[in-house]
Amino acid sequence: MELQSRVYLDYAATTPLDDQVLEAMLPYFREDFGNPSSVHYFGQRAEAALDEARQTIAERLNARPNEIIFTSGGSESDNLALRGVALAQRARTGANHIIISPVEHPAVLATARQLEERFGFEVDVLPVDSTGLVDPQDVEASLRPETALVSVIYANNEIGTINPIAEIGQICRQHHVPFHSDAVQAAAHLPMSEVRDSVDLLSIGAHKFYGPKGVGALFVRRGTPIIPVQTGGSHENGLRAGTSNVPLIVGMAEAFRLAQDRLEEHNGRVIKFRDRVIETVLQTVPRSRLTGHPTERLPNHASFVFEGVDGNTLLMLLDAGGFACSSGSACKVGSPKPSEVLEAVGLSRHWALGSLRVTLGRPTNEEDVEGFLAALPKAVEQARALAAV
Ligand SMILES: *Cc1c(COP(=O)(O)O)cnc(C)c1O
Repeated sequence: MELQSRVYLDYAATTPLDDQVLEAMLPYFREDFGNPSSVHYFGQRAEAALDEARQTIAERLNARPNEIIFTSGGSESDNLALRGVALAQRARTGANHIIISPVEHPAVLATARQLEERFGFEVDVLPVDSTGLVDPQDVEASLRPETALVSVIYANNEIGTINPIAEIGQICRQHHVPFHSDAVQAAAHLPMSEVRDSVDLLSIGAHKFYGPKGVGALFVRRGTPIIPVQTGGSHENGLRAGTSNVPLIVGMAEAFRLAQDRLEEHNGRVIKFRDRVIETVLQTVPRSRLTGHPTERLPNHASFVFEGVDGNTLLMLLDAGGFACSSGSACKVGSPKPSEVLEAVGLSRHWALGSLRVTLGRPTNEEDVEGFLAALPKAVEQARALAAV
């Protein structure tokens, strides 16, 4: 099938690079190639670009420029937040208790597990309701004098649910416990300037908002106890050693600016498509359910489970028909294991194995959506027939 007739509906996995972002990056691959740490003209050009990018991102986060740490992406930002704060807190006060939600991205979940299994921390996993929401009261009830850190995802990548970050942050603030939120999905769709007062650390990653892959940032509120997890030179306020990837950072800043300054325009379009997808799928596909919250969800995010379907089979059938979707989690072909997020919201294996995530983006149009909606019921039916043999 020709590329033109393929429909991409997986914008939560990654987004295409915005043309304007690419244009902004190009000079920094070519003439302005200097190392920002160098004293000479070339270094100064690169340093100026880095400073401007930091300023642009800080402004949209309502933060100070030196509170923005550039990283290699969302995963690294999550790693730095958890490991950096946990180890700093233990060295400082002996605190050895970490609280996370069960709907965290693997970058948070696996880091917390490593801190538990290899570094002697105690990790508490909060409950969530059937829509994947964390209750701030449960955070309060889980806090202990020795809690080093709380981490709750802003908007979940698999089921799109948006957590009450402001309320959770307020509770953590009252108890003087650092609060991290993974906003990698949220940053493309929700106003980031508003969360600044609620969090001590916030992760973002550029390729989820039409920026380049391999670059992200961590907001670290001034005064938050944290040590670097990558040591070396004194780059990034001493928190992340390594020569700055200037073109990617410039691209991220431009992409973040475009995303945050045009939130309403972008969201208005995709919300219409999202609601059309949710309504139609639930109507036209038998034994289907919406996963995540019906209203407190990302504007571009529709996610479902279909009873008695193998999610990977369904994805392959849809792909053969020209539609690129996701199951929502990186589940392995061969030994199907229900996603931990879908288990956490209480779905039985028979439902949870048949997950489908449809995420819309700036290039999505009505034809894409209607074509997909026309093709899906048949694909589910075929997948069910295959699962039954
Ligand atoms: C994509 C994603 C990440 C990882 O970001 P990378 O930049 O791909 O490392 C982390 N958290 C969430 C919620 C994500 O969606």
